[in-house]
Amino acid sequence: MNTSHLECPKCAATYETEEIHHLCECGSPLLVRYDLDKVRETMSKEVVASRAPDLWRYRELLPVVDEANIVTMGEGMTPLLKLERLGSEIGMTNLYMKDEGIIPSGTFKARGSAVGVSRAKELGVKTLAMPTNGNAGGAWALYCAKAGIECVVVMPKDAPSIPRSECEIAGATFYLVDGLISDAGKIVAQAVKENQWYDASTLKEPYRIEGKKTMGLELAEQFGWEMPDVILYPTGGGVGIIGIYKALNELKEIGWIEGDLPRLVAVQATGCAPIVRAWEANEKESEFWDNAQTCAFGITVPKAIGDFLVLEAVYDTNGCAIAITDEETLAAEGLLASVEGAFVCPEGAACFAATQKLLADEWIKPDEKVVLLNTGCGIKYPETVESNPPLLQPGESLPKTQS
Ligand SMILES: *Cc1c(COP(=O)(O)O)cnc(C)c1O
Ligand SMILES: [Zn+2]
Repeated sequence: MNTSHLECPKCAATYETEEIHHLCECGSPLLVRYDLDKVRETMSKEVVASRAPDLWRYRELLPVVDEANIVTMGEGMTPLLKLERLGSEIGMTNLYMKDEGIIPSGTFKARGSAVGVSRAKELGVKTLAMPTNGNAGGAWALYCAKAGIECVVVMPKDAPSIPRSECEIAGATFYLVDGLISDAGKIVAQAVKENQWYDASTLKEPYRIEGKKTMGLELAEQFGWEMPDVILYPTGGGVGIIGIYKALNELKEIGWIEGDLPRLVAVQATGCAPIVRAWEANEKESEFWDNAQTCAFGITVPKAIGDFLVLEAVYDTNGCAIAITDEETLAAEGLLASVEGAFVCPEGAACFAATQKLLADEWIKPDEKVVLLNTGCGIKYPETVESNPPLLQPGESLPKTQS
């Protein structure tokens, strides 16, 4: 066991890892801390390289104590693709995409649930509950099914349909709410108090972020333990970006990477951009965003409990925060599919739109090594594509094409 304690990033209070803890007394999320001297001694790049291509290859930097508790479907080590064609169209020579569409449940939420559910199992949890915009609920429902844990999910009624099917078929105890994720959150908070369920809401348990941080560990390994210049991340609750920042700092601490961290970019939608508004005002925390709405449903989070950690990651790496319209997002989704053959989710597409803007602003230089995080597959978002091809009658001949 390499974990040493749980730590509050706000007031520095510490807690035991082998007891169940949610938020700090002060209301802040807790972060898992490791004995990094021990990690440095017991983990080597060679051994990691020899292991199976999943996120458990970094088990020394993960919180599960007994491997028998690991609930896995082979998640992790997703492809890092060079976007040659799209890069050259916009004049960039080192544009990459890490594709989280190729993972169980079709989004990177599988990482958070694999580690979160494994750790819940290890702590003896029988029932857990969570609000979700869809993808987290789908992933947690599926991993809980495998773990034999009851999963209670509350989701906005306007969430995309496929995560609903995931919750349904996995046998979750499943509700819709006529409102936003913040409304679902209030209902769950009440229910966990009344029933003594394990609260698996975003950042209200410390282990989901440990799963998501493996995106940062993988990127470092896939780039040969050298850092790219910029990472763009579609930011909702912010767990992914906080996790990547945490992972890179841990790698730095054990001496596996050197130099400046990549500039981290929090990408949001103009219809819900609390982090961008806070960053533009140089604030440390965000304000609730009223009337939140965007087609990139996974990033419709009006007020994230870990907002101060997202902003810290952005400020500390000289990154930035940028908002993208749905129109720009959908245009980017079309380009990624038609030029790179990548049918990505709108959240991932927003990162490409952001890249184009930051390149135009000269915030990104054409030869910098830039990584877009595509957080999920487009197949989960059938409603973002309209398809009305011409209807043929049997025996009809096709018009000639250009080639
Ligand atoms: C949840 C989600 C996000 C946002 O992730 P956070 O880590 O909560 O910021 C982005 N994209 C997709 C597809 C998601 O499901
Ligand atoms: Zn605290």
